[in-house]
Amino acid sequence: KRVLAAPTSWTRTTCVYCGVGCQMEVGCVDRRLMAVRPVDSPVNRGHLCVKGRYAFDFNHAPDRITTPMIRRDGQWQEVTWDEALCFTATRLQAIIDRYGPDAIGVLGSARATNEENYLAQKLARMVIGTNNVDCCARVCHTPSAKALKTMLGTGAATNSFDDIEVAKAFLLCGVNPTENHPIVGARIKQRVLQGAKLVVVDPRRTELAALADVHLAVRPGFNIPLFNAMAATLIEEDLVDRSFLAERVTEFDDFAVFVADYAPERVADSCGVAAEAIRAAARLYAAGQPSMCFHGLGVTEHMQGTEGVMALINLALLTGNLGKAGAGINPLRGQNNVQGAAQMGCDPVSLTGAQSIKEAGPHFEAVWGARLPVNRGLDLLEMMDAAKAGQLKAIWAFGYDVYLSLAHAADTAAALSPLDLVIVQDLFLNQTAAAFGTVFLPAASFFEKDGTFMNSDRRVQRIRTVLPLPGEARPDWWIIQAVAGYLGKPQGFSFGEPEAIWDEIRQLWPAGAGLSYARLEGESLNWPCPDESHPGTPILHRDRFAVGKTAALARIAFIPTPEQVNDDYPLLLTTGRTLPHFNAGTMSYRTPNAELRPTDTLDMAPSDAAAYGLADGDTVRVRSRYGEALLPVRVTEAMQAGQLFTSFHRPDLFVNRLTSSVRDRMVHAPEFKVTAVRLEKTGG
Ligand code: SF4
Repeated sequence: KRVLAAPTSWTRTTCVYCGVGCQMEVGCVDRRLMAVRPVDSPVNRGHLCVKGRYAFDFNHAPDRITTPMIRRDGQWQEVTWDEALCFTATRLQAIIDRYGPDAIGVLGSARATNEENYLAQKLARMVIGTNNVDCCARVCHTPSAKALKTMLGTGAATNSFDDIEVAKAFLLCGVNPTENHPIVGARIKQRVLQGAKLVVVDPRRTELAALADVHLAVRPGFNIPLFNAMAATLIEEDLVDRSFLAERVTEFDDFAVFVADYAPERVADSCGVAAEAIRAAARLYAAGQPSMCFHGLGVTEHMQGTEGVMALINLALLTGNLGKAGAGINPLRGQNNVQGAAQMGCDPVSLTGAQSIKEAGPHFEAVWGARLPVNRGLDLLEMMDAAKAGQLKAIWAFGYDVYLSLAHAADTAAALSPLDLVIVQDLFLNQTAAAFGTVFLPAASFFEKDGTFMNSDRRVQRIRTVLPLPGEARPDWWIIQAVAGYLGKPQGFSFGEPEAIWDEIRQLWPAGAGLSYARLEGESLNWPCPDESHPGTPILHRDRFAVGKTAALARIAFIPTPEQVNDDYPLLLTTGRTLPHFNAGTMSYRTPNAELRPTDTLDMAPSDAAAYGLADGDTVRVRSRYGEALLPVRVTEAMQAGQLFTSFHRPDLFVNRLTSSVRDRMVHAPEFKVTAVRLEKTGG
């Protein structure tokens, strides 16, 4: 209903929301953002979704914080940058002196640029002296990166979005691109309407599930037996690619014996799907040629999340769906630069470019002119454990609402409460800052700085300054450098612009060496891109895997999660996102998108609603073993009986009070997708 003036200038940049990485032009009038319009790029081909197109008003929200603050006697006080930086550096140094550098943890951010994440881990390692550095990839797709790196050698999507139009079949597992990666969802839907086959593995009847040739509504927590059953079908019915197996795959015989125990008829009941449907799904996937697999957090956010991705890689290896167009194993990354944050080295066990500290460390030391710490770093979840145990004393989080985002909020509170120092660097006083913050450093938004993002298909794209800095807000890269200076170690932190930081990254990351700003002006390129004449690599593993000529099938035994329903907690809750909103709602709830979906809802099947005497709009108390939340009911045929779904966008509803402390066995991503709960009606 607003009357908007016509923009007088348009600037091209990259959407800040999901990992699709759509290109857009941003129109401004008098230092104010007025409109966004799509660009005809290879990613979004002239389209934007409701987030990219309309959810930008957060930038001018009245509660945006643009002055540094320190909390004194429980009250936030505005201070100068000099005071804030001096306070921050003095407190950090005191902790280093008293407890050692490993008493500090640094968290990079998907909201920040590649350059800023690179500087964050450089500061953690070079200035503070710790490998305790991580980012929000820990809670979403670190399982994908681990699985892909372990089995194929590169921890990223194997193919490009360009391949969607080449694929003849799709296997979508635990992913709802229509709502969470809308431009990719639309491209897949278009391809399916043109005749490509579609298998959807999802407990809910999503829009694409309703369109699918086979919808496997798997019981949450049973991905492993389901994927193994598909593998067993491929082998039993001789649907495998014999020549690909002979040339590029090892361990087939042992795998075939192992996986025979997971024949569809044996596991169908526990998975909650029909055996014949599992077989039909395997047949469609094998017959597609090429068949493209996309997966999301419905695979990774489980106790066996990493192993779930490995089980999917088995399917691609068995059918030869790797190393060619229209195929592959492709995690759909949730946030704009979550791939980049981890790739830049915000990871406790690897440096920029996912390079091992042991092997690449000497090169980094030579370029940085400093020794790297040798202690194994803590990941985000281990930092929380160490904080609860009194071993971690400070955390520095930028662009990341740790308290709201982590599972089992009571546990997170128990970790954050005893910290001596909580540095929050953000646009708004988020829940972490409000409850636990010590110092608040006001950051620039992505409209107010230059840099690069890395999307889901390994494409590096520019973001560009559209607006001037508001008040005292500063880009994250400026703030990190300033803290290094106040810690007395400005060497290596005196870059005048993001391009200079990027050039140092290219020096240290062989697969990104060819991605100069000059080239990125005119195009987006998928890494590996080792030199400036290289065209980029949209498809990985064409002739050989990064682990070698062959890759081994992985025998993944099913281990049920300890988070089980019982008489006290008889329903299974899963969580996820909705189309108009994004993650913690920090940005999207400060835009007109809030009107499109004003609240999170507790979605349930009509039969459950009837059994509990609930109707649309009733408020219900949801209790888990970890906490409780009040949520409005939404009755929908998309849900199966006995299962519930809610999104986690509204800070006041705080859905992560419910979720459990079970973690992925290999990389500790929380099991957001399985929580046993019970319902108590509270009113109409
Ligand atoms: Fe932005 Fe993702 Fe929507 Fe594209 S699909 S406009 S990147 S939120």
